[in-house]
Parts: sequence; structure tokens; C-alpha cells
Amino acid sequence: MTAPAAATLPAGLVTYEDVARAAERLAGAAHHTPVLVSRMANERTGASLFFKAENFQRTGAFKFRGAYNAISALAPEQRARGVVTYSSGNHGQALACAGALLGAPVTVVMPHDAPAIKVAATRGYGADIVVYDRFRDDREEIGRRLAQERGLALVPPYDHDDVIAGQGTAGKELFEEAGPLDRLYVCLGGGGLLSGCALSAKALSPGCEVIGVEPEAGDDGRQSLRKGEIVRIPVPQTIADGAMTAFLGERTFPIIRRDVADIETVSDAALVEAMRFFAERMKVVVEPTGCLAAAASFAAGDAIAGRRVGVILSGGNIDLQRFAALVADA
Ligand SMILES: *Cc1c(COP(=O)(O)O)cnc(C)c1O
Repeated sequence: MTAPAAATLPAGLVTYEDVARAAERLAGAAHHTPVLVSRMANERTGASLFFKAENFQRTGAFKFRGAYNAISALAPEQRARGVVTYSSGNHGQALACAGALLGAPVTVVMPHDAPAIKVAATRGYGADIVVYDRFRDDREEIGRRLAQERGLALVPPYDHDDVIAGQGTAGKELFEEAGPLDRLYVCLGGGGLLSGCALSAKALSPGCEVIGVEPEAGDDGRQSLRKGEIVRIPVPQTIADGAMTAFLGERTFPIIRRDVADIETVSDAALVEAMRFFAERMKVVVEPTGCLAAAASFAAGDAIAGRRVGVILSGGNIDLQRFAALVADA
């Protein structure tokens, strides 16, 4: 690795101690999000469900945790030079917000056809936007080049130790508030949230089965777990736009392989059904990707009946028109 940040990464895999250190850095900066319970959800599943509501996190998704931790971990000179990433979604906004809070200039590489609302939100936090052509250019290559040319630290959306450790604090808070759990459902894109939360589960609730959940259209994570190596697939077509990743990370996969019991998939229709449930019954807006874990728990049946089950609601960023169209169609 040639990015300046690489020098700060430990050689071994991320540990729970890294998650605990991230929690100290995040104290007072990230929201301690609520754990929601619902009698209706419990009746429906026969389980005791604990929903960790990261849709209420700063910038609307858990991504703020990893982004803030990654910038906090940089040496002061590197922080002053700045950071770069190539995610147009929740991670880009989270990094822009964290950079503004920590005094680090942020550059976000975005596709030329990114929704205007996302570009505006990211720019609103003061980030510098570099546009690329998604049909011609390789965004990771552009990110690496900018890192080198401008001396910026590359903070990718999931395959980064400080990002993984930061995301793990969502799980840490859940176990500290809800107590030991029999099972934990976590949505899965590139695996930052899943690997981080698996570290927290192992440390705080040994014996808790951790289940990753990805869209039916793109089960590269499940294939990777079965095969014992990272499997690459074409970019999946799904309404879960935060989980349209085609492969797991080099840093996330070894943790997932060691600490995650299984990976399940859910359909787009089940995601819409879950969005309706949260809006109608619990009065909360959860974006499609944010419903992956919940939809799997709603379909679990006997596997979770009578058990204490954690579910991470990963985010709530969806524009109202799209939200309305999706829930109206169901
Ligand atoms: C990024 C994201 C995910 C996937 O997280 P990974 O760490 O890439 O697995 C899930 N839900 C939301 C809302 C996200 O923004």
C-alpha cells in the first residue's frame, strides 16, 4: 500500500481493543443512538428484538463512526493535509462531516451522474468534489492517485482498520445497553460494519451468533464464506444501494470468516415490507439497505423464537419521494 495512512495501520487484524479505543475517540462526537424495542415486532417473530437505530446517527448512518475514527487516528500533520475517499454514498457524507469537525480537508471522488442532492450534501460539509466518468474511469485508481499527488490519506468506505474499529462501536453500544444476546443480525456490503460488530460480539457476548445479511441479487459474501476466499461478482442490481458491493474487503473478510456464523440473503420485496413496518408501526424511516438485517430477522421463524436478538438498522438516508414510491407500491 502506498497511501500515507497505511503507515498507521497495525500489521495484525483489528481487535476489540481497537473498537474500545474508537469508542473513546467517538465519545461526545458521535450520537449514542437509541436501542428500540417493539411489542409488535416481538409478537411477529416470537423473539425479543433489540433494534440499534443508526438511522439516528450523525449524517443518517453508522458510517460517521468509522469516518470519524479514521480521521482521529491520523497524525496531526496528516490530518492538516487532508483525506480522500471515493464513495458517493453515506461514507462520503460521513467523511465530509467528520473532516469538518476535526479540521481535516476532505476530497470526495464522485461519479458525474451522482444525484444532485448527494453532491450538495457532501459539498455542504465543505468537502472538495472531484468528478469522474463512471463508464470510463476507475474511481479507486483516481482516489489512490489523488492521495499520492496531494499527500492525502485514503479512507476507503470499508477496507480500512480504523473504519472497521469505528463501525464496531455500534455493536459495542448495543451489547452494553441490551446485555448479552443469542444472535445479532448485521447488514453486509463490504463488511466494515459486520466485521467490527463481530469483534464486539465476541468480546461482550461470547456465544452470540453473528449473522451477516446481504441482498439476494448479490450474495458474494455468502459465496466467499462458503468458498473460504473473496469471491467477486458483477455489481448487483438491488434497491439496497448501500450494499451494491461486488466483493468483501481484504481486511474485513478474515474477521468475517473467523467470527461470523453465517450469511443470509433477503429480497428487495422483503426490504420494502420492512420499510413499511418501521414507518407504520415504529414511526421510523429506514433506508432499503438499512432494512437488510431486520428483514432477515422477520423471516427467521423458529431459529430465533424465544431468543434475544440484536438487529442493526444501519441508516435512514432516502429522499422522501423515493421512500413514498417504494412503500406505496408494496
Ligand atoms: C455502507 C452501508 C452499509 C454496508 O456497510 P459495509 O460496512 O460496507 O458492509 C449498510 N447500510 C448502510 C445504510 C450503509 O450506508
